[in-house]
Amino acid sequence: MNRRKFLIGSSLGLVAATAPAGLLSACSGERKVAKTGKLTLRFEPYELKLRHAFNLARSSRTTTPDVQVELEYDGIIGYGEASMPPYLGESIESVTKFLSSLDLEQFNDPFRVEDILAYVDSVAEGNRAAKASVDIALHDLLGKIMGQPWYKIWGLDPAKAPVTSFTIGIDTEEVVRQKVEEARPYKLIKVKMGLDKDQETINIIKEMMPDVPICVDVNQGWDSKEKALEMCHWLAERGCLFVEQPFDKTWIDQTAWLTERSPLPIIADEAFQRLPDIVRFKGVYSGINIKLMKSTGLHEAYKMITLARALDMKVMIGCMTETSCAVSAAANLSPLVDYADLDGNLLIANDRFSGMTVVDGKITLRDLPGIGAELL
Ligand code: MG
Repeated sequence: MNRRKFLIGSSLGLVAATAPAGLLSACSGERKVAKTGKLTLRFEPYELKLRHAFNLARSSRTTTPDVQVELEYDGIIGYGEASMPPYLGESIESVTKFLSSLDLEQFNDPFRVEDILAYVDSVAEGNRAAKASVDIALHDLLGKIMGQPWYKIWGLDPAKAPVTSFTIGIDTEEVVRQKVEEARPYKLIKVKMGLDKDQETINIIKEMMPDVPICVDVNQGWDSKEKALEMCHWLAERGCLFVEQPFDKTWIDQTAWLTERSPLPIIADEAFQRLPDIVRFKGVYSGINIKLMKSTGLHEAYKMITLARALDMKVMIGCMTETSCAVSAAANLSPLVDYADLDGNLLIANDRFSGMTVVDGKITLRDLPGIGAELL
């Protein structure tokens, strides 16, 4: 892919258009930058290569389109990212078009977060991953200016970060066994379900790792509420902690029926995206799975956690397949949640960042200013 072709900055159009190839990564090294007092946005596409084909109840893929973002102010660079699994409807084209349309140079104070993000949100409907990329880069930038990681700025105790799950997709027995081996360091296994092999897959995992709890993500794959309830009981007997998105996202009444009877919490994922969606879920789902690529970033995700808690709902923080940039950003919120599923960076073969790590199965936040990620 022609790198230069995509180096189109909202406020650096001229610089980007005449810049040598490799500008984006070169910006991370030592360089002299004049203090401009302006916010400058740069971005370029980056294809995430998956370690294994990712098989869900309704799809399979080996790559994820992604756009890497930099937001610069007076020589300090914040990093962000948009990851676009196809089912969410965004693409390299839509994200680059959206980012190209932004005029962030109108803001001369990066701490005007409310104004900046309200502006970004107002430019066009949707474009949630594109908006998240700006939000993440802005948080990284501000944290670096303040010299503090975001979990500290939010007043959170990193020791309260939960364990994170490791995801095992729908696959052949051989591949499932191989993935369970990879999952050995983890204290929670997330199983993608929704096909005939569901119980077989769980049995293999329980045979290989009998003491490790599991959770399951059905990705809308179940089509009978009676069978779903039966399966919830079967899973509860096998140490399952919760069930994510059992039915089609439009099945509101059926989901409420299951939630009322299920021994396990029922968590919403595909059924919602942003803050206003949560209110109608009280009584339908037991909790929500927040992802930055749906929530438009950290700023709204924090508000979503607050609202869900006020509604006495469980909160999970998840991710798409992403580099350690967006995963580390999300990890800053993890001390506030019940469950974390932040393994998206581990599922890709070409991570550009180092960031939060998983130590003995637990999310371990780094004491680095900003979102806690460093360009490799
Ligand atoms: Mg899910």
